[in-house]
Amino acid sequence: MHELGICDALLKMVRNIAKEEELEEISRITVEIGTLSGVVPAYMADCWVAVTDGTELQDVEFVIEELEGTARCLDCGEEFVADVNRLRCPKCSGEKLTPLTGRDLTLKEILAT
Ligand SMILES: [Zn+2]
Repeated sequence: MHELGICDALLKMVRNIAKEEELEEISRITVEIGTLSGVVPAYMADCWVAVTDGTELQDVEFVIEELEGTARCLDCGEEFVADVNRLRCPKCSGEKLTPLTGRDLTLKEILAT
């Protein structure tokens, strides 16, 4: 499960930022996950609990925001919001698509009290 590796990296990133910006008590972390990133938000939440268990970040509220990905059809040029469960062009039903947005996972906000 690659969400576990991502959470591990995220934890390191949060700790680095907390250190650099001298954040004392982190209360909430918000991540934005694109629907085309291949990351499953529910797994991500579970993995976060697993990697932070027993650490100073275990009680931090973990918020996941999903960002709808968009794609372009290589056959007709149509750009549309991509439905991950049905990756087809809504106009010509083409399956040759290129993702435009929504492939990223971003650490959006760290809220400290
Ligand atoms: Zn098309």
